[in-house]
Amino acid sequence: MTTQHHADRASWRRRNPAEFLAEVDVAVVGFGIVGIGHAVAALDAGKTVAIIDRDRRPIGASIRNFGHACVTGQVGELADLAYTARRRWLELADRVGFWAAETGGLALARSARERNILEELADDRGERVRMLSADEASRTLGTDGPPDLKAGALLRDDLRVDPREAVPKIAAWLADQPGTTVWPNTSFVGSEDDVVYTSRGPLRAEKTYLCTGHDLDYVAPELAEECAILRCALQMTLVEDPGVRIEPAVLSGTSMLRYEAFSQTEAARGLREELTERSPDLLDIDANLMMTQRPDGTLIIGDSHEVRSTQEPFLEESTTGTLLAHAERLLGLGPGGLRPRQRWQGVYATSRDRAYLQRDLSDHLSACVVTTGVGMTIGLGLAERSMR
Ligand SMILES: Cc1cc2nc3c(=O)[nH]c(=O)nc-3n(C[C@H](O)[C@H](O)[C@H](O)COP(=O)(O)OP(=O)(O)OC[C@H]3O[C@@H](n4cnc5c(N)ncnc54)[C@H](O)[C@@H]3O)c2cc1C
Repeated sequence: MTTQHHADRASWRRRNPAEFLAEVDVAVVGFGIVGIGHAVAALDAGKTVAIIDRDRRPIGASIRNFGHACVTGQVGELADLAYTARRRWLELADRVGFWAAETGGLALARSARERNILEELADDRGERVRMLSADEASRTLGTDGPPDLKAGALLRDDLRVDPREAVPKIAAWLADQPGTTVWPNTSFVGSEDDVVYTSRGPLRAEKTYLCTGHDLDYVAPELAEECAILRCALQMTLVEDPGVRIEPAVLSGTSMLRYEAFSQTEAARGLREELTERSPDLLDIDANLMMTQRPDGTLIIGDSHEVRSTQEPFLEESTTGTLLAHAERLLGLGPGGLRPRQRWQGVYATSRDRAYLQRDLSDHLSACVVTTGVGMTIGLGLAERSMR
């Protein structure tokens, strides 16, 4: 397949091969978690690798998220990918030297239905999901928790990294590995056979992986349309250390709507209606109310969801207000108990008909894009599978 045309292509094709930026076994486009995962997997398979990214450093979805590998929340094939990714995260944390903690996740139930969902999951998953009483849940949380707390469940296999540390550190580590070249500030503009056209000139790669995340439509618009890939924008807030230590990632009732391990339980029937009744403002912004604490004590709080082909760049203050007010309640803090330090928008690829796209477009070109909000959970698993 030939991707987007570029004005200079004809002149590049006439160039002497010595003028290629690089000649490698594998080229990877994008240094988010998906691209970086592909680069590491290729390197481990003994291949030479070139990584290009249009930015100077990772600033995409992979550093804007919770850093939560939501392993327990996945079912079927995604669960297999998540367990592979979990192993790869831990290996990489050792090799590269970044924080990755087997903290698990903590799901909080605030109604009988939510408690039933967790119990059903615990029955199904055995020792991987442990039910907690309301007291045990609030002790694990390190705060009183919400006044209506009914129970909790500890999701043993969930893993956490600091998103602002992990991917940039892997990218820097990759740049130092023999056999790897990294081309920051370099855009992929198209490819033909084994020649990859970039904004700095052509390179030659036996295989190229497009790991561009939600911007796939910029380089392969027809593929993005065929796979119904759109952009999902999320509003996030970093708040000052509230003076408590919360080890696990904290999930709420809205998380139970989103992750299939919860939403596919019998007990989850009627959950949406219940939450619409209890917290209509959260449903209005399609929230997944959750939080993770970074090693410095700051809390990442999110998130809202809005799906469009092109996103508004403007953050709605009311959305942040809704998320913060509910986060304060979840922690049992009064109004104003959380002090915002930063707000940002994150965008990921989403599709109504698939959780990821992993496809050979020609003998020399493949695309790999996670099309739901679980790239930190399954991205490294997909990368390992690409190299098989
Ligand atoms: C707010 C938020 C919270 C989330 N929370 C979680 C979570 O807790 N757990 C979880 O599992 N997942 C979570 N996700 C989803 C996860 O972050 C994404 O699925 C994942 O990071 C996508 O990784 P990526 O490598 O595909 O994309 P990105 O990290 O966006 O990387 C894509 C890279 O491609 C580069 N690129 C694009 N086009 C070109 C081009 N033409 N030429 C060169 N380079 C190009 C970009 O510059 C970018 O660096 C969250 C996402 C967001 C936004």
